[in-house]
Amino acid sequence: MILTVTLNPSVDIAYPLDSLTINQVNRCPFAKKTAGGKGLNVTRVIQQMAVPVTATGFLGGPLGIFIKEQLANQQINQHFATIQDETRNCIAILHDNGQQTEILETGPMITPAELAEFEKIVTTEAKQAAVVTLSGSLPKGAPHTYYAQLLTDLKDTSAKVILDTSGESLKAVLVGNIKPYAIKPNLDELTELTGKKSLLDDLQLIKTLSQPLFEGIPLILVSLGNEGAFVKFNEAFYRVKIPKIKVVNPVGSGDSTVAGLAIALARGAEIDETLKTAMTLGMLNALESQTGAVNPLNFDTYFKQIVVIKQSGDH
Ligand code: ATP
Repeated sequence: MILTVTLNPSVDIAYPLDSLTINQVNRCPFAKKTAGGKGLNVTRVIQQMAVPVTATGFLGGPLGIFIKEQLANQQINQHFATIQDETRNCIAILHDNGQQTEILETGPMITPAELAEFEKIVTTEAKQAAVVTLSGSLPKGAPHTYYAQLLTDLKDTSAKVILDTSGESLKAVLVGNIKPYAIKPNLDELTELTGKKSLLDDLQLIKTLSQPLFEGIPLILVSLGNEGAFVKFNEAFYRVKIPKIKVVNPVGSGDSTVAGLAIALARGAEIDETLKTAMTLGMLNALESQTGAVNPLNFDTYFKQIVVIKQSGDH
């Protein structure tokens, strides 16, 4: 089983409008509401690939119930900590030929008792998990060290932890004692972490990922959008090349990549297969209009076209 953690989920509302007029009433005949948040995208993709998954995190109020019902409708196992405050809405207004205006609530305040309760849930559930994914930003009330704390809570389980976050919460983990098994920064996140620009070149990436900051993390997958990925696995480096595809909506491809990593790690795949699975699911998400969704029937076609090239580790 794979356990997915979403600490600040949302009900994502999409309002498609021909045009948005500020300071006027804008009527929207059709609003789409879905369970959102990076960890829930990971969850959906794992479920679509028919791999057992359980979703956890914080949910509260009527919007929390809405998310629970949506997951139940999709036959997704769940074990969330219930909070007093209400789960957030995130609004995307799609208007004027492809423009997108977003209003993102910061979300509920989690109390210290709720944070402690969640630590119990995640530790219990992780006992049955081969892989745990930790995705997204931290909610209000959680200290920036909360992911580092969860890693400490999970250190006695055999589950491999994949962490996909950014900013202070990622830094707190990198300087902490207990490391995740894998991280998946994109290029912007890597640049933010290291302060180094123009990292695309292989030698630069090898140098960057060899910094003491990344020591102790076996698998670092730097996702590069349509350029595939650059990877450090133990002491080896890999360039992963992907084919050109007809992109429909690439939002959530990073989450889908994390789902692929989790699926491959859960079945103990070798590194080659692991990287190809991660890249394939990233691409399959980009081929769909829905965020965090894949068509498993396309898996083999794209998997076959990915090339993993081992780089010289001399640097
Ligand atoms: P997000 O934050 O939207 O989830 P991300 O920035 O974390 O995405 P990306 O590097 O954009 O992650 O994408 C992850 C993977 O998805 C890529 O390594 C690639 O396999 C696939 N992918 C993303 N965008 C494209 C694209 N335009 N064409 C082909 N594959 C893509």
